[in-house]
Order: sequence, then C-alpha cells, then structure tokens
Amino acid sequence: PAPRKSWLDKLRQGLRKTGSSIAQVFTGTQIDDALYEELEAALLMADTGVKATEFLLEDLKRRVKEGKATEPAAVRGLLIDALAELLKPLQKSLAIGASQPTVMMVVGVNGAGKTTSIGKLTRHLAEANAKVLLAAADTFRAAAREQLAVWADRAQVEIVSQEGGDPSAVTFDAVVAGRARNCDVVIADTAGRLPTQLHLMEELKKIKRVIGKAEASAPHEVLLVVDGNTGQNALNQVKSFDDALGLTGLIITKLDGTAKGGVLAAIARERAIPVYFIGVGEKLEDLQTFDAREFAQALLE
Ligand code: GDP
Repeated sequence: PAPRKSWLDKLRQGLRKTGSSIAQVFTGTQIDDALYEELEAALLMADTGVKATEFLLEDLKRRVKEGKATEPAAVRGLLIDALAELLKPLQKSLAIGASQPTVMMVVGVNGAGKTTSIGKLTRHLAEANAKVLLAAADTFRAAAREQLAVWADRAQVEIVSQEGGDPSAVTFDAVVAGRARNCDVVIADTAGRLPTQLHLMEELKKIKRVIGKAEASAPHEVLLVVDGNTGQNALNQVKSFDDALGLTGLIITKLDGTAKGGVLAAIARERAIPVYFIGVGEKLEDLQTFDAREFAQALLE
C-alpha cells in the first residue's frame, strides 16, 4: 500500500472540493447559537444527514457545557473527537482464514466501483500470498466479465466465468472449485443493480442461498460497494441492500472525487456496518483501510 500520508492528502483534497469547508465555521471568536447554526448547515452540506447532524451537535454542546472548550478553535477539536467516536464502530478490518475458502459476495449499483474494488482487493490478497479465486457472476454483460478477467490476469489468480445462464450456478461452481483447489478466498462479482429492481434483488438472495448450499458457513462476507459521491443516496443503498441481504461490510469509493464524506457519519448513525475499505482513486494503492480518527480529521480540517 501507498504511504498513508499520500492517500490522506487525496482524501482531504476530495473532501475540500465541496467548498463547504466545515473548518471555516470555527474561525470566529465566540461560541454562540450562530456558530451552531452555521455548523449544522455545513454538516448537512457535507452529506451528514439530519440524524447524524443532530446527534453530533448535541454531543458537541454537551462537551462544550462540560467546559471542554472556551473558544471556537477548540470546539473544532471537540467535533473531531465526537465524529471519530461516532465513526469508530465502522472501523474494522476484513478477516480471512476462519474458513477455507472464505467466500465473499460483492454487490452494488452499476458504476459504484465494484469491479475495480474487487480487482484491487484481489491484488492485495494475492500479494499477501492468499490464493484467490474470482467468480464472474455477471453472466449477462460480457464487458463486466472481461474487466474482471483483466484484473484476474494482473493478479495472476484464477477466474470462473460463464456467458449466459444462471449467476447463482456460476457462483456455486466457483465455491466448489475454490474448495477443491484449496483457495483461501473466493470473491463473487455480481451484476450491478438498483435496490428498486426487486426481481434483481431476488436474484441476489438466490445467489446468497446457493453459496450456502455449496459451503454451509458461507457467504462469510456480503460486501456492498457504494459511491461516496452519491450522498444520502449512498445511505439509502446501504439500508436497502442490508435489508435484502444482511450486509457484513462496506467499501466506500470515490472519496477522492467531489465526495463530501459526511455520509459515513450518516451510515454510522443509522447502520453501523464495517467500512472495510475506502477508495481514493483508480490505482491499486488507492484502496485503503478506514481509520475513524484520520477520517474525522480529514473531513474537519
Ligand atoms: P462497477 O460498475 O461498480 O463495477 O464499477 P467499476 O469498477 O467499473 O468503476 C466505475 C468507474 O469508477 C471506473 O472508471 C473506475 O475506475 C472508477 N472508480 C472506482 N473506484 C474509484 C475511486 O475510488 N476513485 C475514483 N476516482 N474512481 C474510481
């Protein structure tokens, strides 16, 4: 992985692009209602959402009342503490090895960065000497299978792919093959879909059930890849996919773009599902582990 400093810079740049710098709120001289109002607006602008914004403001006012800050600059420090605490439950690392193979099913809407994230994750796992098998469960789009095959090739891992047919059948075969070939990890890429496409959500449920038939304890991870630029839409995707499938982890991409980042606070407040990785660019080293305090600092600088 790249040095942490360089990706933190990318994250900061992305977060700053919104023009809604939260840090600006703390440049005054007084802690008063006007400051809280400005802060509320800035947090909402940064996609923090109503619930998390209210929670953070209450938390912050309590800390100020306890005498922990007497000037705006110090309030910023308290907000970093409050946000870091709120985000802390999302900070968890993806573990493999409890089962062989560890089976991961990856879902998301089109364009979220699913295939790219799987590719990067595969490279990282392969470099850490894990034996990975990819399953191209998007049986309809040739381009999706080809893109995954390119990543498989780069990482020099095997791929189970099939044109047409039932995506759950391909996934089943991949899990069986993964066990037979002593793989450490099987990662199934599924076709992008919207949570409102109910028949396609049923298809995902079926893939999940069928994975369980191939390997009783699987899937061990159901990961949602979500574009960090999509604001409250991202939160809605998390909720819908979680309701349908029971998510075990998230990958939040494109935080180097125009992302506002506050959406992670909204997710933490409403669905505390671990954020295993964040994406801050298109390169291999741009898939990074999530650290609550670093993220809070980057957002509030
Ligand atoms: P999928 O449809 O969900 O599989 O999405 P893709 O993996 O094909 O990604 C869609 C586009 O987003 C591609 O151009 C990727 O290079 C780009 N992308 C993915 N992750 C990131 C990220 O973290 N940052 C940026 N800037 N681009 C990303």
